[in-house]
Amino acid sequence: MTYIHDTIVKLQKTSPAQAEFYQAVEEVLDSLQPILETNEKYKLHSIIERMVEPERQIMFRVPWVDDQGKVQVNKGYRIEFNSALGPYKGGLRFHPSVNAGIIKFLGFEQIFKNALTGLPIGGGKGGANFDPKGKSDGEIMRFCQSFINELYRHIGPTTDVPAGDIGVGAREIGYMFGQYKRLTGNYDGVFTGKSLLWGGSLVRKEATGYGCVYFAQYMLADKGDSLAGKQCLVSGAGNVAIYTIEKLYELGARPVTCSDSSGTLYHEAGIDLATLKELKEVRKARLSEYLAAHPDARFIPVTDYPADGHAVWRIPAQLAFPCATQNELTEADAQALVANGVIAVSEGANMPSTQDAVEVFLDAKICYGPGKAANAGGVATSQLEMAQNASMQRWSFEEVDEKLKVIMKNIYLSASTTAAEFGEPHNLVLGANIAGFRKVADAMIEQGVV
Ligand code: GLU
Repeated sequence: MTYIHDTIVKLQKTSPAQAEFYQAVEEVLDSLQPILETNEKYKLHSIIERMVEPERQIMFRVPWVDDQGKVQVNKGYRIEFNSALGPYKGGLRFHPSVNAGIIKFLGFEQIFKNALTGLPIGGGKGGANFDPKGKSDGEIMRFCQSFINELYRHIGPTTDVPAGDIGVGAREIGYMFGQYKRLTGNYDGVFTGKSLLWGGSLVRKEATGYGCVYFAQYMLADKGDSLAGKQCLVSGAGNVAIYTIEKLYELGARPVTCSDSSGTLYHEAGIDLATLKELKEVRKARLSEYLAAHPDARFIPVTDYPADGHAVWRIPAQLAFPCATQNELTEADAQALVANGVIAVSEGANMPSTQDAVEVFLDAKICYGPGKAANAGGVATSQLEMAQNASMQRWSFEEVDEKLKVIMKNIYLSASTTAAEFGEPHNLVLGANIAGFRKVADAMIEQGVV
């Protein structure tokens, strides 16, 4: 216990005001106690001290000109956290909430997530405090080009391979790739999540959502249960939420909610996927507009949310898929879910449940798939995109989807067998953290003091 406290106190001093980063570190260190107690080697090699310190942090100015001719300035980040298992790999997030602490928490999580996939990828993350909302296509392009004017010198297909995250999809990847190509002259697999027209992989767009549902399927199968006929809560209305909903329908479940920054949509008959895709992927409109096509649905604006949490988690259901953002599910939300009889939670977002909420799920012994295991399908499929690019091949949708299923199954097995090995079979937080940590830590030891 004291080393966790000491590590956090030290981080608070050396990296001040990074609450989400401390939260991510504390959760991992808490899980690692049993393995650190019995393995002197990790202490001797100062593995924890090295792991919580990024190998490299790049912070830069991103100046760009808006449509009115005014110069705007944002802060850009790329945190190359750990390359023990392969080139840095992880997304770029463009959102006004982005700061060094947010990118560090995401990069830290990414190390263990990527290790769990069993694929040769290290952990990194980046982004900018840029708000894509309401920006014209020209503004988005100029921002992406300026972002790459600095970042291009740090990335490459065997060094650091960015992808998308919140606010970064195929359009932004296209503009960033174009500028990288112009500056370097290289046409290579430096980004994943590319368009299908020029090097992208089939299933990459769907992969995080699909993978999150496969993970729930494997957790339930272990209990002799399935997704069929289950009522599901989904939060978010971005890429992860949309393809979680799509896969839930394919596997016979009924997703009844989704949400965006304006509020929560509750459609008891089941969310109409075509309307949702039209609103969010084509028109980039607010969720409340869904009611025009489906007056029987209900929209709960954020102003009507409970003071201690999120309206979406107060709706009775058997399964929950947090697919929006960090800390979107509070302790009170978790208590409401458990009281309403939820049997499984599978996280499509990164660290969506607060630490207290996670405790509630673990105490209730429901199936709980933490983000770094349940949402690893996205980055895993990114690695499949890298493999296709490097070998100049193109795999079919079925081929990639089949590989994704196998990877998600292996992640589940790795987390659950490790949890059982340490005497807490239901605790996939412990299992995922230890399984991921062991791979990275042992590789670091073998590679010496670097
Ligand atoms: N941003 C996604 C994640 O959180 C995907 C990263 C990637 O594909 O590299 O894992």
